[in-house]
Amino acid sequence: MAALPKVNLIQAPTPLHRLDGLSSDLKVDLWMKRDDLTGFAMGGNKGRKLEYLIADALEQNAEIVVTCGALQSNFIRQLGPACAMHGLDCAAVAMKLPFDRPAGQPEPAPMEAENGNALLSRLSGVDLRVIADGDWETLFEAMEDLAQELESQGRHVYRVPVGGSAVAGAYAFYEAGLELQRQQTRPFDYVVFASSSGSTQTGLAYAFDGTRTRIIGVCSDPEPEMVEDFATLGRGLSEILPGARVLQSSDFCLDTRFVGSGYGVPSEAGSTAIRTLLQREGILLDPIYTAKAFSGLLAMVEEGSVGGRVLFWHTGGLPALFAYPRNL
Ligand SMILES: *Cc1c(COP(=O)(O)O)cnc(C)c1O
Repeated sequence: MAALPKVNLIQAPTPLHRLDGLSSDLKVDLWMKRDDLTGFAMGGNKGRKLEYLIADALEQNAEIVVTCGALQSNFIRQLGPACAMHGLDCAAVAMKLPFDRPAGQPEPAPMEAENGNALLSRLSGVDLRVIADGDWETLFEAMEDLAQELESQGRHVYRVPVGGSAVAGAYAFYEAGLELQRQQTRPFDYVVFASSSGSTQTGLAYAFDGTRTRIIGVCSDPEPEMVEDFATLGRGLSEILPGARVLQSSDFCLDTRFVGSGYGVPSEAGSTAIRTLLQREGILLDPIYTAKAFSGLLAMVEEGSVGGRVLFWHTGGLPALFAYPRNL
């Protein structure tokens, strides 16, 4: 079966290297896959997905790409330039914080909503429509309303779900898993990374199914039922991977313990993880995804549930650091 069509956006393979300082501190063989260094619009895992999503949009003769996300979305920040480079318009509905704070929980410190990813998205020419905060469902409905409004004006719209988690996005991470398999000198026991809309985890889970490597997503949203969505996305992926075993929701390992108070709010353990990795290895993490995932990895090593040869897949997100100066 032919691979899906693709445009070139990132410098691949992204680097793979050992973290010598933390390996000796933690008594594990710790490595990092550097998707923060894709070379595309300040890096991150969305560049891989966009190589396939943009190719699909072009193949379908789209004129405008419509998506949604948080104002600090790393996806919108990378989607904007990817569209502009290929002659596509881009519109996105965004909320400052798409997350319902449970009653009684303290208000998070104010963010610099217009800095970081929001600034970079605007520079790329995205038509960013910021609506009042609410839950994810409200955001998805507002995106669909915008898509239909544009269609009623006669425009050919290409819809991209939040985070780029369409089948093409999951396929990108299936290919990324094969990229790692070509780079690694020996198989890893564990691959740990930040998981949210699910195409990263779904693609990696399919790439490593049947190998000794355990794939562990660390949740950035407090929603354990997301593995059901991953299984659904995976069924779509399995249709273009002949011979692949169809994974069930129980095949996805999603650790929900390290979200902190919710999506889009930095956690204390994450802030500590940012300092640890920066001061020991000179590598930065973002507060919303990778810092929480790395804090999870540190805790899993500590409790002994993860050990041996361990890979942290750095999914990027660094511009968000500049949106949370008072939370870190
Ligand atoms: C989007 C994102 C993730 C999560 O990837 P999904 O494929 O949406 O699960 C992790 N880390 C960063 C920095 C991201 O921007």
